[in-house]
Amino acid sequence: MNGDDLSAFEAELGFDTLAIRAGYQRTHEAEHDEAIFPTSSYVYNSAAQAAARFSGDEPGNIYSRFTNPTVRTFEQRLAALEGAERCVATASGMAAIMSTCLGLLKTGDHIVSSRSIFGSTVVLFNNYMARFGVQTSYVDLTDLSAWEAAIQDNTRILFLETPSNPLVEIADIQQLADLAHQHDCLLVVDNCLCTPALQKPLAMGADVVIHSATKYIDGQGRGIGGAVLGSNDLVGGEVYGVLRTTGPTMSPFNAWIFLKGLETLNLRMKAHCDNAMQLAQWLDQHPAIGKVHYPGLADHPGHQLAASQQSAFGGLLSFELKNKSREKAWQVVDHTRLLSITANLGDVKSTITHPATTTHGRVPVEDREKAGISDGLLRIAVGLETIEDIQNDLQRGLATL
Ligand SMILES: *Cc1c(COP(=O)(O)O)cnc(C)c1O
Repeated sequence: MNGDDLSAFEAELGFDTLAIRAGYQRTHEAEHDEAIFPTSSYVYNSAAQAAARFSGDEPGNIYSRFTNPTVRTFEQRLAALEGAERCVATASGMAAIMSTCLGLLKTGDHIVSSRSIFGSTVVLFNNYMARFGVQTSYVDLTDLSAWEAAIQDNTRILFLETPSNPLVEIADIQQLADLAHQHDCLLVVDNCLCTPALQKPLAMGADVVIHSATKYIDGQGRGIGGAVLGSNDLVGGEVYGVLRTTGPTMSPFNAWIFLKGLETLNLRMKAHCDNAMQLAQWLDQHPAIGKVHYPGLADHPGHQLAASQQSAFGGLLSFELKNKSREKAWQVVDHTRLLSITANLGDVKSTITHPATTTHGRVPVEDREKAGISDGLLRIAVGLETIEDIQNDLQRGLATL
């Protein structure tokens, strides 16, 4: 009947249909837009029903730390888009990574991680997981033999982001999934930069996908949230267990914002990619610029791989000035009048960042240089403004070099 749960024929539906309609069951009020359920607890018809809910004999809502209809709608919709059995929504992207670690690791376990990951993830691994006896080794994202060499008997998780930030290097997800499975490890992919609109790691063999919903899933800079996706066993069992007990849960208000974000995700990602491609080509021709890092450019070392595992090349790029001094890089930043000077990404508003003195400011200089993050590197998270306006805004500073 019209209005019934879509799950019965979800397999026949396209990405955009799922992004707009999956996971929702209308209430008796027949509302058209998804309802927000700002309630901490739920009531039962009888003592017997309360007992059945608490024992798990009867499915249904219990307490919003772990069951909320708005949050569940977001979880089911994102799961449909990633092709996951199960999604667990979290209070932030970092809460998603922490819950994954607490759910899947124990004292004595070991993580092999790409070196090019989100800064707070490094702090989580080095300062907090280490305190509980979980050690992490770091390798170059694109060096398969380094990944293999770093795996120990106690390695349980391989962790990566692809594309990386800010140099947009591309890792071969399928190859790393095979490597992980040969060694009885799990491959965990932070899919924040691509979203399922561009890349579906689970279909390529990854075991767990992480999201910061704060970025492209919201897409308009309004809220903090995250998600963990994977099998019923791993994510529905262990990760959900941590979340339900420790409580870094997504609020129903934020879940509703992210539902609205998902409705336009595919459209926005296409537009981000189009603008980023145009900007990359323009920067590539610019006399003040040495190198442009964007996987959509044919000379990018990960171009072929990105073309095969992503449906488009993403909204993030970085570039190096010919004059690699911090002063000149700051001069370009400070001449902008439109771009937001912030380290955030995944917003309709374009942002400009000087990684060496912000996101990577605490990385020792030698390590930073070795990783390719020079003082002359600038990162743009390309938004959806008119492309000529973005170019003109950068040209203000570039013209002074
Ligand atoms: C922002 C970000 C995170 C952390 O997400 P929060 O929502 O800020 O906690 C994790 N991974 C990547 C790649 C990110 O960009």
